[in-house]
Amino acid sequence: MGFRLQLRSKKALRREAEAGVYDVVIVGSGPAGLSAAIFAARFALKTIVIAGEIGGQVSDAGYVENYPGILRITGPDLVNRMLRHVQHYKVPVRMGWALNIERRGSVFEVHTTGGAVFKSKTVILALGVRKRKLGVPGEEEYSGRGVSYCAPCDAPMFKGKVVAVVGGGDSAASAAVLLADYASRVYMVHRRDKLRAQPIYHRLLADNPRVNILWNKVVVKLEGDRLLRRAILRDTKSGEISVLRVDGVFVEIGADPPREFFEKIGVETDEEGYAKVGPDQSTSVPGIFAAGDCTNACNGFKQIITAAAQGAVAAEAAYRYIVSAAGSP
Ligand code: NAP
Repeated sequence: MGFRLQLRSKKALRREAEAGVYDVVIVGSGPAGLSAAIFAARFALKTIVIAGEIGGQVSDAGYVENYPGILRITGPDLVNRMLRHVQHYKVPVRMGWALNIERRGSVFEVHTTGGAVFKSKTVILALGVRKRKLGVPGEEEYSGRGVSYCAPCDAPMFKGKVVAVVGGGDSAASAAVLLADYASRVYMVHRRDKLRAQPIYHRLLADNPRVNILWNKVVVKLEGDRLLRRAILRDTKSGEISVLRVDGVFVEIGADPPREFFEKIGVETDEEGYAKVGPDQSTSVPGIFAAGDCTNACNGFKQIITAAAQGAVAAEAAYRYIVSAAGSP
């Protein structure tokens, strides 16, 4: 995706990291991280965003139609707007992955790829989630040659072609609606006989003449020649095998939280691996806050607006944490 970002060399990044102690290091640049950056800047906190990939899950999202004030926008376009908003406040956004976070006295050290270590009074983790893969034969082989994990990125390549979307949640439904604007036929392959997606999608999909839902089906294999040509499906009720001729398969079967990272840095998680947070987005580690899809906030209601709201709350909480730490004897 074409996000406008000035890239830094490893050396420049290390120099920037050594420049002093930040008030807040935000790890992650989806709606939660970018919103946290905007609010942190407005609280006059010395802030930096460490971004593994710009936008997180939203960069892969189809049409977003539930962000107040914007009737319809693609995920990447919304991310670009948020990024420009952050850049307006001159908050640096640097590419890199956080490898570890250690506490040294009252300061956290955020170790990132390339050897840069950012020192900070607080940390906001907006790590997002990792998209699941199907794990079937052919998936790796045809990744980028028919198999995709990003509908808005790849939809234009399937103009007039036949595609399948695997999954029955909001991501799959949203991808199917977007793909139907390009492909001649969109099959939704869902393992059950009921969609998990929000009710509004049921109507949008049913009313779209280009979309067919294949119920009770799972993909067991992907085949082709140089390019993907077929998805082999199994009926989850009868066990019957069928062949679906497709040019593209979009995998939208949910995502997993970064449980291992939380465990490594001592942040408590729930059973599924989402960071447990309080009403102020504080984690079990004082000074570390978490926001967005990687947390158990909002009863697990994972939306762009809830992530953005959590980012704002986390920034305010970080501000209060710093103020109270400065006032303490
Ligand atoms: P999700 O809600 O977890 O749905 C994943 C879907 O994939 C489910 O239908 C699930 O089937 C299916 N699935 C899981 N593993 C599978 C496998 N191995 N093989 C075949 N199918 C499999 O994930 P999501 O759709 O990515 O959404 C994640 C979160 O983001 C949700 O909270 C969602 O509401 C939110 N979101 C919201 C929007 C929006 O509001 N427009 C858009 C995107 C995402 P079962 O139904 O049988 O479990």
